[in-house]
Parts: sequence; C-alpha cells; structure tokens
Amino acid sequence: MYNQTMSNLQTYLKLSLSDIKKQPKDKQIEILEELVHYHNRRYFIDNDPIISDEEFDQLTEELRKLKPDSPVLYEIVGEIGEVQHPEPMLSIDKRYSYSDIKKWVESIDTDDFIVEPKYDGMAARYQNGILATRGNGIYGENISGRLPYLKIIGKLPKNPNISVRGEIIIPNSYFQKHLANEYKNPRNAVVGIIKAKQIKPAGIKALQDGGVHFVIYDEAKSLKVKKKDILDEEKWEQILESVLSVDYPLDGVVIKVADKKLREKMGATEHHERWQIAYKLPAEKKITTVVDIKDQVGRTGRITGVAVIEPVELSGATVTNVTLHNYDFVEKSGIDIGCKVEVCRAGEVIPFITKVFKKPKNEPRIYTPPTHCPICNTKVVKNGKYLECPNKNCPARKSQEFEYFFKSLGVEELGLKTIEKFINEFHIQKVTDFYDLKPEQIAQLEGFGEKSAQKIVQNIQNTLNSTITEPQLLQALGIKEIGPATSKILVKKIGFDRLPNATEEEIIENVEGMGPKKARYLLDEIKDKWEIIEDLKKRGLKFKKEETTNKLAGLKFAITGKKGKYSRAELIKLIEQNGGEYKSAVTKDLDYLITGPDAGSKLQKAKELGVKVIDENEFLKMI
Ligand SMILES: [Zn+2]
Repeated sequence: MYNQTMSNLQTYLKLSLSDIKKQPKDKQIEILEELVHYHNRRYFIDNDPIISDEEFDQLTEELRKLKPDSPVLYEIVGEIGEVQHPEPMLSIDKRYSYSDIKKWVESIDTDDFIVEPKYDGMAARYQNGILATRGNGIYGENISGRLPYLKIIGKLPKNPNISVRGEIIIPNSYFQKHLANEYKNPRNAVVGIIKAKQIKPAGIKALQDGGVHFVIYDEAKSLKVKKKDILDEEKWEQILESVLSVDYPLDGVVIKVADKKLREKMGATEHHERWQIAYKLPAEKKITTVVDIKDQVGRTGRITGVAVIEPVELSGATVTNVTLHNYDFVEKSGIDIGCKVEVCRAGEVIPFITKVFKKPKNEPRIYTPPTHCPICNTKVVKNGKYLECPNKNCPARKSQEFEYFFKSLGVEELGLKTIEKFINEFHIQKVTDFYDLKPEQIAQLEGFGEKSAQKIVQNIQNTLNSTITEPQLLQALGIKEIGPATSKILVKKIGFDRLPNATEEEIIENVEGMGPKKARYLLDEIKDKWEIIEDLKKRGLKFKKEETTNKLAGLKFAITGKKGKYSRAELIKLIEQNGGEYKSAVTKDLDYLITGPDAGSKLQKAKELGVKVIDENEFLKMI
C-alpha cells in the first residue's frame, strides 16, 4: 500500500501541510502515510533527510491525530541494517542451587552486590539513539524505529559514548488484560511487536498504551545487597521474594558485582562475564482457585492475609495456603474468594502468588481486609503496608510469644498447639507461669502421659541450670529488632545486666543501622520485658558461659581464599571467642590475613600494605 507510483510521491512532496489539510480526510491520511514512510527511509536508511526534524514531527503528529493506529507510525525503518555491538553481548553464566550461589559470592572480594530480576523478554542495547537486539551477541538488529514507542524504565544515557543494556518486556498484568487472546505468552508478544513488519492491532495498541517497556538493567527494580545477606539463607530468601515480586515475566534473578571498576577488572570468558551470574529458578507455576482468605495474627501483632487455595503440587510439595504479601497487595491485586490465581514455588522459597485473575468489576467483593483483630477484636492499626493488632495481651500474640521463647531456649516440646492448650487449661498469663507447672497437672490432660509430662516440666526447669547463654535469653524475649546477631552484640558491648539501664547513645553506637527512634523502641521493649528475667533470676537462673579467651585481644583479622578445616563463619567465631576482631576488608590497620588456596586480590593487597599473611594452621596455633 505504500508503493505508490513515483509521480504520486513527487506530487505529494510538493505539498505544504496546509495544502494537505485542505484535502478530504481519507486523502489526507493517504498523503501523510506516503510522506512519513518516505522520510523515514531517507532519514534512517539513506542517511540523507530532506526535511527538518520539526517538519517531520509535524507530519507524524498530523497523521497520529487522523489515524493513531497507522502502521507507518510504528514501522521499523532501517531494520535491514545490522548493528555491531561495541563489545559482545555475552550470555549470563547460570547457577541452579543456593550452595552454588554462595560459592560464587564467597569467591569474590567485595561486599556489595546487586540482585535484580532475570527478565524473560528480549535483551537489547541502547547507545546514541540506536536500539539494537542482542542478536547473536556480536551483531544485533537495529530496532530504533520502535524506540519512541517504548516506555523506558530507568534512564537512557545522553552521552553518546555510553551504552546501556536492558530488556524489552511486557508487564504480566498488561499482557493478561489486553494481549492474552492474541499472543501465546508475553515473550511471543514482545517478538511479534518488536520484530514483525506488520503488527497486529492489539500490538499497536500496546505500544500506544505504553504497555511495552524497555527496562534498563542495573537501574530498575534492582536491590543493593551486602555479601553477608546473600550468605544468610533466611535473608537470601527475603531478597528473592522481594526481587521476584515484580509484574514482569521472569525466570530467575541476576546477581552482579556492584562496583563497575571491579567488573572491568574481572572481565569475561569467551561466553560470559565473570562479574555476574544468573540464578535460574526451577520455578513451577500453577493456576488454582482461592477458596477462602483468612487473617492471621503474628507474634508481633502483624496481621497477614492467607489465601486458602485448592491444593496444587508445586516443586514436590502440596500447597494449600499462600501468604499474601500485605494488605496493599490485597487491595491492588483485587484478590478475592473465588478468584483464579497463579501460584509459584521456586526451589525452597515459600510459595507466593504471581498473578491474580480479577473477577469482573460488577461482581461484589466477598473478602475485605479486617477492621478488627480476628482474635481479640481490638481495632487494627495501619503500619505502612501492614495491619497490626495493637493489643499486647492479644491471645494470638501471647501464644506465639511463648512458643518463640521456649523454641529459642531449646524446649522443643512446647509447640504452638501444646502452648494454646496449656493457656486454656492452666490459665497461663505470662511466660514464667510455665515454670510453675507440675507433672501431675499436665499428665491429666488428654494426649499426655506421665512420662511426657515429666519430660516437659524437666526441660522447662532445665533452662534455669546453666543450659542457656545470656544472648540466647535476650533473643528469646522476642523483641522486634533483636535477632541472634544483635543480641550477641548487645550483651558483649553493653553487658546483659546493664541493658535495662543502657542509654540510647550506647545502642546507636554499638548496633549497626540503629537510629534514635529504633533505639528508643528497643530500650522501651527491653525494660518492658525485663520482669521476665527478674522472675527467672528469683527462680535461680544460672547462665551458661561461652568459652572465651583474650588470646587475640586487640588483633584484627581478615580472611580470604578457600577454606581448609574450618568454614569462614567458624573462623570468624574463633577469632571473636578469643577476643580478636574480624574485618571483611584488607586495610592498613589489619594485623593478620588468614589465607587459603586460591586467595585473590585480598592477598595481593595485604602484601602491598605489608599485612602479615598466615594460613589456617598458623592461626590455630595462636589460640
Ligand atoms: Zn488481637
């Protein structure tokens, strides 16, 4: 339809915009399409434009007004041109298990990493106005013609010498709503929209709607994380969950070294860059129906929605419940009883909902977030994205607090069900009431024999007899901010018995990431719960002493290379138990660098700085 005779084109080229506007509408469209197509080619292919950019913009604007879905507005010009990438766009090396991720992260001498979604769209590169597909990695296709119609997530560099990579991708929600009937999946839709010469009308609409994104890597939805967080499995799962909760089709996450200079230094093999890896999730997704939504109250009072679903098998487990992120998610996603949802479970990660197929608008919503605590009926308060029961004596909070307390002290017999039973039967009000229980009482209850009753009482009493440490008991109090690491620091730096009288300044100074507000909260909670400790002391509480020495007092150590007998974590523990200090970086004021085989840049640096280098055996002789 654009192959008009030359004579037609010659006539049109002589017309001014006001001349064109005098024509009937159909004729105007015909002329404008012809002209835009012609000027496009002159500009992109012949590199010989005969009108100014402003004139060209006026023509396209006019055409857009008359016929917004004209394919000419979305044609790829110059697509016959290949673009050579300034440096090869290599593929990303893949890992399939958490232990392999840990190995990789441990092997790199930096603390700062970036974790971002591994998008399942079409990789592309932008530089100086040119957008090109990855192609075979060396040459890509020029798709610059699509660029003005893509929604850019992140920032395109203005500097013509800087090139950025990203992914052309369609959000799951947009795909479901507008494209699911036209294309098999979001990836197919991207290919169909970006590479086809004739785009389907739904595809053109997607471009107009801003439904096709170019997400620039490193910038959009990436999480800056510390090495120690990746090495902590619980934290790693939180990172995964957060990174994976984006509205794009994904097949894993990418972990990158954050420092761009270090990236350059690490370089690449023939196939992939050494500074990044992909963690491919053996993710399984299934669609099922929400049967019910329940509101659960946690130990700290936070209320979470839990969707009860028709059971599905996912990566080897039967899933019947899925926790909903928070009530903002509930509102925004429109999830309701009777909804179809897509549930995903990847590896060991807890299952989560990746997609909600909303009910038609005219159907009334069955589920509404709670206004009152489902257990104690106290009015809920909103705290950020979360709802909370503010009642500190809420039975749901209490029973979980008690469970957490005894679990932290190693009393395995007191699970949640048993605790709830005891609370009801023995009118337990506070955690120390458990210490008054007698075997005869428990043995009367259904499901308990004399032996098991005795064992429970014995194990509870045992916690008073040098079986638990000070940090362990502090952590057992279940104060929000105080996990195992923080409780150790508090006991070590401030001293257990001084804690209720500590000052805000002491807390801020000693605990990383503490501001005045958090410190105030922490102190209030400690004071609030200290009566538990006082009560236990009256009952004759004796602490287990951690064996420590001062052999390494005043000495600073760093560790590098593959380990021998001891893991890194064990070595750090040994350093600290003997009064030494562990440092992650090699600096001048370091006393020793403990090395193993394959020591990398840290060893180099230590030598340059004149830091003493020892191996594991030499270290063990010191303690
Ligand atoms: Zn409550």
